[in-house]
Amino acid sequence: MKIGLEIHVQLPTKSKMFCSCPTTDAPAPNTHVCPTCLGMPGSRPVLNRKVLEYGIMLAKLLGCRVADTTWFSRKTYFYPDMSKSVQITQYDNPVGEGGSYKMASGKVIRITRIHVEEDPGKTKRVGDLSSLVDYNRSGIPLAEIVTEPDLSTPAEAREFLKQLIADIRHVIDLPSDGERSIRCDCNISVGKERCEVKNVTGLKNVERALTYEVLRQTKILKSGGKIERETRRFDEEKGVTISVRKKEFEADYGYIDEPDLGIYDIRELAASIRIKESPQNRASRIASQYGIEPKMAKQLVSTSMGLADLFEEVAGKYDPQTAIKWVGGPITANWKAMEENGRSPEAVVGIIDRFTSGEITDSECTMEIRSAMTGESMESIQTASGGLEDLINAFLDENPEVVNDYRKNDKAINRVIGTVMKSSGGRYSSAEVVETAKRLVESRLRSQT
Ligand SMILES: [Zn+2]
Repeated sequence: MKIGLEIHVQLPTKSKMFCSCPTTDAPAPNTHVCPTCLGMPGSRPVLNRKVLEYGIMLAKLLGCRVADTTWFSRKTYFYPDMSKSVQITQYDNPVGEGGSYKMASGKVIRITRIHVEEDPGKTKRVGDLSSLVDYNRSGIPLAEIVTEPDLSTPAEAREFLKQLIADIRHVIDLPSDGERSIRCDCNISVGKERCEVKNVTGLKNVERALTYEVLRQTKILKSGGKIERETRRFDEEKGVTISVRKKEFEADYGYIDEPDLGIYDIRELAASIRIKESPQNRASRIASQYGIEPKMAKQLVSTSMGLADLFEEVAGKYDPQTAIKWVGGPITANWKAMEENGRSPEAVVGIIDRFTSGEITDSECTMEIRSAMTGESMESIQTASGGLEDLINAFLDENPEVVNDYRKNDKAINRVIGTVMKSSGGRYSSAEVVETAKRLVESRLRSQT
């Protein structure tokens, strides 16, 4: 089975790709439009430079060769959501080609190309016989990323997309919700011929649409039938794909070079652009640079880049073990509560300072960190954590074998956590119970040796 994806990302520019219409959510249909994005006679497109910058950033993220010069083409087809009957896109010499992207599993997915183009408008069915059309989206810039058919299962395609989207969001500062969307065309072949499922949105739907296609194509092949090359769409409610049309070939679109735009020499621009380290690259760098578990590095980065910053600060100032103990422990446990309270982790390094210089004890340090991050008073934390520590200690006194089991397999701690969560009736957060249980078991282990 071979799966390849074409991923369309709406780029976060303030104005559209070839005119000054805003790209933000419009108050009503057909209000963010002008003669250029409607393709009226006499209007001329003017390229928004930001679009090329974002295209180059993504090309670099995906390890593509960035072109020296790039230009645009007109793709001709009629569809009511495109009043010009041509879409300005890139055909020859896209922004980037020939890249590769490494998944957390280690598998490398080859990237065929990345180009930039304009989004068409949107149609909305009204009853059986008519549709309404809204051109607000028409002319919003898109990057299209095309992969080679290197993905082997629907689940792997989902995993790839999840990781790639997280990296894209970080590198081009794409808002995590609302106005910008990511859509996917999924190409899949079980036998020789492939089918394309157009415009699937959402990770879960990509996996569902592909899973359905695997079953459908397998059934046809088993009964001696032939898969036809075609374009299909995914019905989210029914969970099935439906044939839309026979797949056309690129040559059918009669591409011509766009005469209203020039050739862009992007060498200098590309050389001036440095991209941010992607979350995926950062997690693997942190794991190898500080010698920590890849799983932990991934957790730090996916919780927040700020948390990863703090880890690197503490590991640099003291050593990785200190950073694992405090940033990986109580600071991670309180991170969400800190964000919800609108606080910052500013004070924690000072608290760790006082611990390493022997001014405060292990448990005082834990409590002070929590107080600084959540705003709770030391008194209430002392009462609560005293209660929690007592519960855990009582359990460990009764079941001393758990400490030895933990030495062999750290999953042994789940017994402590499960029992305490149950007996405390939800009084403590799971993060808090996990962190305290680990701390107490580990301190018992240390006193044994
Ligand atoms: Zn416009």
